[in-house]
This record gives sequence, structure tokens and C-alpha cells, in this order.
Amino acid sequence: MKPFISVAIDGPAGAGKSTIARRVAAELGYLYVDTGAIYRTVGYHMSLMGVGPKDSDGIRRCIDDVNIEIRYGDDGLQHMILNGADVTDKIRTPEMSIMASGVATQSCVRDYLLEMQRSLAETHNVVMDGRDIGTVVLPNARVKIYLTASAGVRAERRCRELLQRGETVEYADVYTDIVKRDEQDMNRAIAPLRCADDAEVVDSSAMSIDQVVAEIKAIIRKKAEA
Ligand code: C5P
Repeated sequence: MKPFISVAIDGPAGAGKSTIARRVAAELGYLYVDTGAIYRTVGYHMSLMGVGPKDSDGIRRCIDDVNIEIRYGDDGLQHMILNGADVTDKIRTPEMSIMASGVATQSCVRDYLLEMQRSLAETHNVVMDGRDIGTVVLPNARVKIYLTASAGVRAERRCRELLQRGETVEYADVYTDIVKRDEQDMNRAIAPLRCADDAEVVDSSAMSIDQVVAEIKAIIRKKAEA
């Protein structure tokens, strides 16, 4: 049997990873795995427990009570099930972005989620997006992409997305959150966000979604044929 192909897409918050990765996966017939949603789900559980994003002891105490399942709906969307309840709609708030980034600095959380991510790649062709997929989770991924864009462009995109969802947001607040998350994700001790040595860098600042999808599919074709 041919081994499964993994496409790792890493990059900072708001670079367009999930939109792009979802489309690339759908067009190739691969499974799309949004690993940020898994960290958000852990963050959501901690907030329900009244545990803050920097409370290492509290997080360690509560992590064993987290039971996460990923289900794919008929809509093709990745649904996050936390202890039996679908929390997909609850994890996309600015507060959960900060909670996720906080819990993601804890080694007990990263260790806990590592196997879940690896086992999906062992059993499917995947497009997996996150921060450490090409460097830690799937270091042998056939294709590695580092998708980035300027902080200003990323904040604009995130604002548009939140406004479309009916939320009231200020550009300055979204920009500050993005810069704060970059800083936390790039400078944490464990599995910091960085470009893998063998990743192809795609800067989407001045590109449309269609252009980025086409470029990534071309990279995948090239690597898959190599
Ligand atoms: O991608 P998304 O913005 O949903 O991720 C939320 C947070 O989860 C990130 O800011 C990051 O701190 C964390 N994360 C991570 N490793 C991943 C995916 C997400 O640390 N593979």
C-alpha cells in the first residue's frame, strides 16, 4: 500500500491557513485537519473550569478531563466535540484565541495532543495546518509550506472575518491581538512557530485566495512527483 501523503501548512495567526488548507484538501480529496481548533477546544475547556491561560498547575490538573473528538459533518466542516458536546461555534472568539495561545505554551497540553494529530496523518492523506506541523508533529511530511503575510494585512483579514460574523471589532484591537499572539507563538520554549528548513515560503500579502491555492497545489504536485 502506498504511504499516506501529508501536507503541513504552518504560519502565523491570520495568514489564511485554514481557508487555504481547507480548499486545497477539498480539491485534492485529502482530510483537512485544523490543529488550531484543537488548541482552542482545550482553551475553551480551561475557561469553563475557571482556569486561566497561564495557570500551569490548573491546566495540568484539568488536562486529563479533556476528551476531544473530531467529527467531519456533511458540510465538510471539522466539528470539535469536547466531552460529548459540539463546541465548534464557541471556540472562534478573540478570547478563545488568547486562551488557545496560552494553553499551547504548556508541555502537558502539547504532549497530550501530539498523538491525536499524528494518528490522523498515519491513517489519511492530510492537509494539516498549525504552528509546529512541519517542525514537530510531522517532521517527515512530504510537503511543507510556511504561509505568511504582513501583520497589517492579517489584522485586516481577521477584522473582516469577525465583522462578517456579526461581531463588533476595532482594527487596533485585532492588530494588537495578532502581534501579541505572534510574539507568544514565536517565542515560547516548546514548539515555537518557525519556518522548517525544508519548507517553501508563501507570502500571501498581495495574493488572492485563488492564487495562493494554485501556488500551493503546484508545490504539492512538484513534491509529490519528486
Ligand atoms: O490557528 P489558530 O489561530 O486557530 O490557533 C490558535 C492558537 O493555537 C495559536 O495562536 C497557537 O498558539 C496555538 N496553536 C499551536 N500549535 C498548533 C496550532 C495552534 O500552538 N499546531
